[in-house]
Amino acid sequence: MDFEFSPAQLAFRDEVEQYLDANDDPDVFDVTRENMAQIVDTPKRRAFMAKLGEKGWLGITWPKEWGGQEGDGVYEYLLNEALAARGGPQIGKGVGIIGKTILAHGNEKMKQEFLPKILRNEVEFAVGYSEPDAGSDAASMRLKATRDGDGWRLNGQKTWTTSAHFAEWYWVGARTDPESKHHGITLFLVPLDHPNITINGIWTMGDERTNDVFFDDVFVHDDYVVGELNHGFQYISEALDLERFTMFTFSPIEQRLDLLCDYVANETRDGKPLKDDPVIRQRIAQLVTQGEVARVLGLKVVAASMKGGAPPTTESSEYKLFATELSKRLADASMDIGGPGAQLRVHTEEAPMEGRSESTYRYTVIDTIGGGSSEIQKNIIARRALGLPKNF
Ligand SMILES: Cc1cc2nc3c(=O)[nH]c(=O)nc-3n(C[C@H](O)[C@H](O)[C@H](O)COP(=O)(O)OP(=O)(O)OC[C@H]3O[C@@H](n4cnc5c(N)ncnc54)[C@H](O)[C@@H]3O)c2cc1C
Repeated sequence: MDFEFSPAQLAFRDEVEQYLDANDDPDVFDVTRENMAQIVDTPKRRAFMAKLGEKGWLGITWPKEWGGQEGDGVYEYLLNEALAARGGPQIGKGVGIIGKTILAHGNEKMKQEFLPKILRNEVEFAVGYSEPDAGSDAASMRLKATRDGDGWRLNGQKTWTTSAHFAEWYWVGARTDPESKHHGITLFLVPLDHPNITINGIWTMGDERTNDVFFDDVFVHDDYVVGELNHGFQYISEALDLERFTMFTFSPIEQRLDLLCDYVANETRDGKPLKDDPVIRQRIAQLVTQGEVARVLGLKVVAASMKGGAPPTTESSEYKLFATELSKRLADASMDIGGPGAQLRVHTEEAPMEGRSESTYRYTVIDTIGGGSSEIQKNIIARRALGLPKNF
């Protein structure tokens, strides 16, 4: 298998880097925000993404009919990784998860309303699957949708909804058939400024805000039902395969690995170079090797997605599991090797590794939970790749 990029792909990567250099702005790009950078919302960041849309870079894989370029997914991957490496906004949610699901399953009105807005970056979405009693087992969701005339009335609660406090639209799953579990869920698009929706913040250990969202008799017209009634869980599963890949980028991990390697190469402890410590050498060698495995697993997802058809499922889970667990191991190693100073906050003068160890130590845990926990990824791999029986 060839894991090298073609000359055309490398040329695109150079073009992206040059564009990002020319548009470098600390209000848009900040590597110290780590993976949370993708969920920061400011007018400047929205304007920057709108400029990417004007260049045609937001719809690289979309059909030409809907303003896309019908290009290979590898170009989208290269762009997203370049944005993530600089701590910039990423193309994941609107273009990748919601846009691609609307393209595959949405009605004509929905396509006309949302697809151009997504490509112009005029809309932000929040994704609502999880509930207090439905996380890993998302198909247990109970947010109730009751038929009313030419639409539905939604009542109940979602939790852990990231971006709900600034997004305009809510991509939300609700129970339309209480008799069936997986085949009783429908996906809706709901405006988040609806007066009967209440949003309360939850602050995580990674300094990220996520939210509880309460529905109190929220009417949604049939036009805003995504795809077919009671097929929502199928669409959610497809979208989660995309999320597991696009929202958990590799370049920030690679960058933190380089930072740690530089630190070990140049620093001393008790007068002795860190690079001469056999335990540290072994640990670094393992991490760098695992970094290469994560990179290649990511490329396997890209290769599988370019074959067309449904998003790759097993490959996405393998990548998400390995990359996010590696990210956590890397944060542990940075704390251990950086010593007591590694506990200093980011931007603290003289903190080792630019003070990034402390925040990465906290936030990398979250990446192993959101988008489906590591245990759930293992279950998926066990069932779909290894043919083992279901454990629940
Ligand atoms: C910061 C953050 C942001 C999030 N953003 C969103 C969002 O925007 N939208 C959204 O819908 N959700 C979001 N989530 C929710 C996330 O998807 C869930 O937290 C996740 O799916 C786990 O569900 P849970 O928290 O209910 O834990 P549970 O499902 O209760 O799991 C608890 C533990 O049991 C393990 N476990 C559960 N079932 C099994 C099993 N069958 N086999 C083995 N182990 C199992 C889990 O791995 C976990 O360790 C977010 C979560 C976090 C932390």
